[in-house]
Amino acid sequence: MKRTRQSWKRFLIGIGVPVLLVSSSVPAAVTEKGKVQQPRNIYELNYSFQFTFQRLLKPEEMKLYETRGPKEIQRINPELYARISVDVKRWTDEWIQRTRTTRDPIPEKRLSDGQQLAVKIEGMLARYFQELGWPYRPMQVVFIRPRDFIDEHNRDKTTGGMFIPFYPDAFFATIDWPIPLELVLVHESLHFNAAEGPFGSSLIEGTTDTSARYLVRKFELMSPSDLWRAESYPLERKGVETILEKMMERTGRSREQALEVLLETYLTGRQEAMTKIFGERAWNRVLRLSSAQRGAWQTGKIEKALGE
Ligand SMILES: [Zn+2]
Repeated sequence: MKRTRQSWKRFLIGIGVPVLLVSSSVPAAVTEKGKVQQPRNIYELNYSFQFTFQRLLKPEEMKLYETRGPKEIQRINPELYARISVDVKRWTDEWIQRTRTTRDPIPEKRLSDGQQLAVKIEGMLARYFQELGWPYRPMQVVFIRPRDFIDEHNRDKTTGGMFIPFYPDAFFATIDWPIPLELVLVHESLHFNAAEGPFGSSLIEGTTDTSARYLVRKFELMSPSDLWRAESYPLERKGVETILEKMMERTGRSREQALEVLLETYLTGRQEAMTKIFGERAWNRVLRLSSAQRGAWQTGKIEKALGE
């Protein structure tokens, strides 16, 4: 049932909790028609933070919240970061708790299987990172129902998971939908461990998904045919294959070695290894293509950028 703001307040009074929305323990989302209701999905949950913080933060704090990312706020105002983060975590945990006590929660067996898989993958990744001398940051995985990922405003959108800004060190994922969980968990753990660097969006997703697929095979988490059927980031991966081929041509390295050089560049944010292979100007041209509009990330353009 949808509640108008007025009836929501009456409901709150009726069950004996404070009238003021922000002092209730649960955030409320406002729809575009101005109705107040509990978040129906993870997008509305995210939106409800904005609404609630408008009432909790001072104007200058709100401006920071709206214009800067979590990492930046943590750097320039750690106290504000801590306050926002504590609230976001509490509200999100309460929302998740509610989704787990509804009529159709994730079946318990499936939830514990998912959690076990996450622990297994974390161990594999930690060992792999250690072998290569890269620092590894483990990520907590919070499972929610596929229906909580349905965007009411864009029902065709299929999202397998997302980060909630300011929720510390966690990723939110569905169980087995729409991308296999093995691939989602490795993919997101790589994002989580990557430095803020100059890679644009095409190169970020292409490198992440190509590396995730390589690791899923290396760890024998999925069969080649199941992996082949998973349709994630085909265009971004195609561009990355072009870069890998050129790296192999120029250095005589194997595909695996070339991919590990690219992955290390992505994780550390340091571009020296790539500029050494292609030259600074050529590599910067590729980075610009990756940040450009959709359609720029094409085999021919990448080859040209690399100096063919
Ligand atoms: Zn991604």
